[in-house]
Amino acid sequence: MTVTQSELMDFNLRHHVAPVVPKLMAITGLINACGWFVSLSLGNPHLGRLAVEHMLGGLTMVLLGVICHRTASAGRATSTTVVSILFVLVTSSFLCLTAANNHTGLLQSLPYCMVLTAVSGFFWLTRWGLVVGSFAGMIPPFFLVVTGNSLLTLTPHFFAIYVQLWMCAVVVSFALYAFMNRVRRRYVLTLRELEEQARRDSLTGLLNRRHFADGVAALRVASPARTPAMEGMLLYIDIDHFKMVNDRFGHAEGDRVLQRTARALEAACEPSDLIARLGGEEFAVFRPDGSTAESACAAIAERLRMVLSHPDHGRGWQTITVSVGGTSLAVGERLDDALQRADHALFRAKHDGRDRVVFAPPVSQAPEPFPDVERTSPLVNVTSIPQVAAV
Ligand code: GH3
Ligand code: MG
Ligand code: MG
Repeated sequence: MTVTQSELMDFNLRHHVAPVVPKLMAITGLINACGWFVSLSLGNPHLGRLAVEHMLGGLTMVLLGVICHRTASAGRATSTTVVSILFVLVTSSFLCLTAANNHTGLLQSLPYCMVLTAVSGFFWLTRWGLVVGSFAGMIPPFFLVVTGNSLLTLTPHFFAIYVQLWMCAVVVSFALYAFMNRVRRRYVLTLRELEEQARRDSLTGLLNRRHFADGVAALRVASPARTPAMEGMLLYIDIDHFKMVNDRFGHAEGDRVLQRTARALEAACEPSDLIARLGGEEFAVFRPDGSTAESACAAIAERLRMVLSHPDHGRGWQTITVSVGGTSLAVGERLDDALQRADHALFRAKHDGRDRVVFAPPVSQAPEPFPDVERTSPLVNVTSIPQVAAV
């Protein structure tokens, strides 16, 4: 399964890794300040210069930390990567200037070289950020060599030691980056799986009630009503005499019937329809087109009946039948209200003998208030599906 860069960024940058960056920089700034105090207590002859360098180094890092913190919280991956590269560049520049100037400075500063590049492996956001950031650590000493800087002659082994440590640091940094990437990928995949599981009913794989409602809301926004007043068609489906399957053949067999009904529903609907298991042996379908609701409702029910009527050989029960209540979802109408109307129509279908579909007129066409199915009968029996062998 592929994981996109933005999914990785989302995990890495905003929620977990980015907050480490300013803290790390603040700590480095503090270490710089400590270095200054150590130099002071040792009576270092280059104290004046060291003091300026350490203070400038510390201030720059704190400043970069603040910038990084702001860009990170805004979720801008590129700017955080650039700031991180700048961080290594500036710090290694101070390291070179300090170390090349005197032996005490060298001893104080060399660990930075290792720590900086290595630790940065945790917060590089992109592969190229890692590569560029790692090489950034080599720019300042390389610059000193190329320009034949006289400071280097004072500490002739500096360059060799720096390069060796830098190479170790790059290896550690790449290893940390690879580790981070693995963790990030696993995290993103697990998150995706959990989200999918939360959306789906575990037995049938159909949407669950909550996500059906979310899906309908999203479709209503995405696809404007085809007719002036109707936003979609809603079906409420219930398996007939399902309890009998459980009672006669056991719960496991009942589960199989539920799965089979779910597959039959998928076969009877369009791929763009939303299909859900609302609970028990009740299902719902939403089609974001209310213009031909009545005929579409009948067509789906008929296809469903066709698929379900095939006898399942070798099983105790032969065929499954369903009762269907349908209605149109009016513009601006609450889904729960339309579902209740479809449920009333379903009740009528059960009442009239099961194995049939009853269509309830949408709210705008119903005499108001929409009557209770028990009192009057505004429901239109769209089609009466021929009775097939009962369970
Ligand atoms: P009707 O034709 O009026 O709809 O009758 P029915 O027997 O289908 O409906 P009833 O509400 O009496 O029974 C529904 C049964 O569905 C009762 C419950 O034990 C069973 N049920 C609910 N959820 C599950 C499930 O996940 N698996 C199985 N096997 N049975 C379930
Ligand atoms: Mg039932
Ligand atoms: Mg039921």
